[in-house]
Amino acid sequence: MQFTDLKAQYQANRENINARIQAVLDHGQYIMGPEVAELEARLAAYCGARHCISVASGTEALLISLMALGIGRGDEVITTPFSFIATAEAIVLLGAVPVFADIDHATCNIDPALIEDKISARTRAIMPVSLYGQPADMEAINAIAARHGLVVIEDAAQSFGATYQGKHSCNLSPIGCTSFFPSKPLGCYGDGGAIFTSDDALAEAMREIRVHGQSRRYVHTRIGVGGRMDTLQCAIVLAKLDNFEWELQQRARAGATYDALLSGKLGLVSRPRDRSCVFAQYTVVLDEREPVQAILHAAGIPSTVHYPVPMHVQPAYAGWCGPHDAPVALALAAKVLSLPIGPYLDDASITQVCATLLGALGLAAPGTAQPSANPG
Ligand SMILES: *Cc1c(COP(=O)(O)O)cnc(C)c1O
Repeated sequence: MQFTDLKAQYQANRENINARIQAVLDHGQYIMGPEVAELEARLAAYCGARHCISVASGTEALLISLMALGIGRGDEVITTPFSFIATAEAIVLLGAVPVFADIDHATCNIDPALIEDKISARTRAIMPVSLYGQPADMEAINAIAARHGLVVIEDAAQSFGATYQGKHSCNLSPIGCTSFFPSKPLGCYGDGGAIFTSDDALAEAMREIRVHGQSRRYVHTRIGVGGRMDTLQCAIVLAKLDNFEWELQQRARAGATYDALLSGKLGLVSRPRDRSCVFAQYTVVLDEREPVQAILHAAGIPSTVHYPVPMHVQPAYAGWCGPHDAPVALALAAKVLSLPIGPYLDDASITQVCATLLGALGLAAPGTAQPSANPG
């Protein structure tokens, strides 16, 4: 069993992907070829944002967004400690300070009730992460930002395709950033990412920053980076987009099968009804994780931990904060376990994962999979 089955995805979409790659090889415009603008137009329309700016990675999307806002030395950005390190990395690379607000124990996303306490005269932005594929509580976060004149940047690297109160992730705040890392819900075959905004001035700044701050050829209006997404990667995402709605349905099916087999039996990440989850991960919460993970491993079932060490206690980040800043994240880091999931994982495999997991916990193995309602 694969944790994320990229080979099955390729086989299912092979003709379209191959044709798209061949078209790029035939026209030869490897940098800023026609597929780049085509992808940006399709993704912007999909999310409902006025602009999509494709970039070299999800990390670069966060970095370029912060640069476009002029965030730098001495500025503070409030974020979650429970994420991939890139979220905080983009902040510190610019000389700004990450201020960690703890997570909500039920959703594992930043707890809006803890944000206001962290706001100081130097705070410029709030950067929530839509962890595991489910948007954070963006309505509450946007309201806090509006009260204090802050910008909200959604780190939607795991949640492309998810919705919140009927709107798409990446378009839930002034700036949304996503990643096309191969294993993300919408992935390419290398590195790639995108920024979404409906602000024309920010979009122009982002477009310039992504190519060395160039406003015209060899005229460098701003400090920028080499942050373009290449044409081949854009072509691959275009091919995968043709089948993306079906894949989202299959992700929802896989999540519902897990829910039906596990809810009420062990801890699950809660999923409020006003948003959807694209299941970048299907994560359970276990009191004794390591023995369970060993039993899964012995049965040939891969699992991983997102994330074993929260950012606020990472050695390189210890100067900015300490363990007391986010006890909930610290506790959950010892308990979360992500199980295999994806559009190509069938219900029989999910049943096998759940039977092994429940067996490891000394709980009765379930019978057949009956998809049930969201656990709420
Ligand atoms: C994957 C990820 C990133 C970084 O994306 P890359 O494309 O790998 O640079 C940033 N934030 C989160 C939450 C992620 O999961």
